[in-house]
Amino acid sequence: MSMKQKILIVEDDRTISHFMARALEDGGYQVLTAESARDAKTIFLSHLPALVLLDLGLPDEDGIVVLGQMKVSHPEIPIIVVSARAWEDEKVRALDLGADDYVIKPFGISELQARIRTALRHAAAVSRGPGISNEEVFHLNDLTLDVPHHRVTVGDEEIHFTAHEFQILELLFRHKGKVLTYAWMIRQIWGSYMSTDNQILRVNMANIRRKLKENPAQPKYIQTELGVGYRMLEEESAE
Ligand code: CA
Repeated sequence: MSMKQKILIVEDDRTISHFMARALEDGGYQVLTAESARDAKTIFLSHLPALVLLDLGLPDEDGIVVLGQMKVSHPEIPIIVVSARAWEDEKVRALDLGADDYVIKPFGISELQARIRTALRHAAAVSRGPGISNEEVFHLNDLTLDVPHHRVTVGDEEIHFTAHEFQILELLFRHKGKVLTYAWMIRQIWGSYMSTDNQILRVNMANIRRKLKENPAQPKYIQTELGVGYRMLEEESAE
């Protein structure tokens, strides 16, 4: 018998909390709930759950503060922020503080479950390896990125990418399924001396998409998280 993975739901709205708890219990998880920041921190430290779903609008403290504290003490535990706030700067702040993903209310339970599976898979990969995927050849549907040979193909067609375009694609592949913020990506590719102006990243991304014949409105590979960053999609069959 396998041990059920524990998920901590931090949410002061009982309707939403019960709705999430039932769906996650049906999905085979053990659910813990907290309705305040104070309870959340206590339960977090005593149970060390496999994952936390964190509402930002809590009665006693800003969820952002709770997020920061949890990530400082246990960075390995994935946290998905579940919030009614759709403000872009809040989303960026949460992701830069280490949130693993961000779901805006109202959301569908199947979307939430898919995000949870992705976050748990990433956490498992991190605990096995040095923090990011070690793969050297990546696939997404018909797109293949071969890191050692510096080759990108779509189906049988090889596509030429500049060094920066290739690095961006590799970064997205190594963190497949996760939202990467503009500032974080720019630091990874160009280093901390580059200004955090997104323009350079946007230009490169436009070129990548043109070469991949990607329609940004209906992406097959890379989804834009408006005002926040980019996310590499995952194979539909994987969900
Ligand atoms: Ca709330």
